[in-house]
Amino acid sequence: MTKPKYDRIVLKLSGEALAGDIGFGIEANMMTSIASQVKEVVDLGVEVAIVVGGGNIWRGISGSSKGIDRATADYMGMLATVMNSLALQDALEKIEVPTRVQTSIEMKQIAEPYIRRRSIRHLEKGRVVIFASGTGNPFFSTDTTAALRAAEIEAEVILMAKNNVDGVYSSDPKKDPNAKKLDSLTYLDVLNQNLGVMDSTASSLCMDNNIPLIVFSITEKGNIKRVVLGEKIGTNIKGSVS
Ligand code: UDP
Repeated sequence: MTKPKYDRIVLKLSGEALAGDIGFGIEANMMTSIASQVKEVVDLGVEVAIVVGGGNIWRGISGSSKGIDRATADYMGMLATVMNSLALQDALEKIEVPTRVQTSIEMKQIAEPYIRRRSIRHLEKGRVVIFASGTGNPFFSTDTTAALRAAEIEAEVILMAKNNVDGVYSSDPKKDPNAKKLDSLTYLDVLNQNLGVMDSTASSLCMDNNIPLIVFSITEKGNIKRVVLGEKIGTNIKGSVS
């Protein structure tokens, strides 16, 4: 199997994935590993857009629990995703993968503003596009951003890369020894069973727009390529309701 299953993908990297084993901030080896895994699929001719989270630096909800106004704390979270995006751009360009960062909140000294048609043009030219600063709105998540951007750029799938988790389980495998890994699900299952794959806004957006999602571990090198080549790893969430 050397022919990619997809022409255009959105890769969702949680902030946690960038933190590797440190659990906070950006871990250099992890960043290098992610960049080379992305390069492997770019080399196959796949158009890759990436949405990066910020939870390794700041999360709006935890900020607001410390007394910061929720909207302000969320804007801080969005800024955290910009830091991660710039670090990822740096790692990709060091291995000669052409990259553009586009932000939903304008900061044109460091990145382009998000312009849908422009991002599609970059993808067509083989550049990796990193979508930073989430949707630009508080009370949303970068999972929702991945769903929104995937719909906008007509990506065929969202690949949700996790750190040290290889898919979706029936319950938390760290707490429940009987937790079972689920191979295939629908968004209705995710919503009804409260499986915690992504928040309900993101799940609904994917469901309504028929965007499939694959949840897999990025800790194992080469996994992004495996998924792109159609190997069945992780958990597959079907776009359609049935
Ligand atoms: N955020 C936001 N609006 C968005 C995307 C993100 O307000 O459209 C904020 C929110 O505070 C969130 C933080 O940015 O907690 C970091 O994003 P997220 O938690 O999705 O990152 P991840 O869990 O993927 O690391």
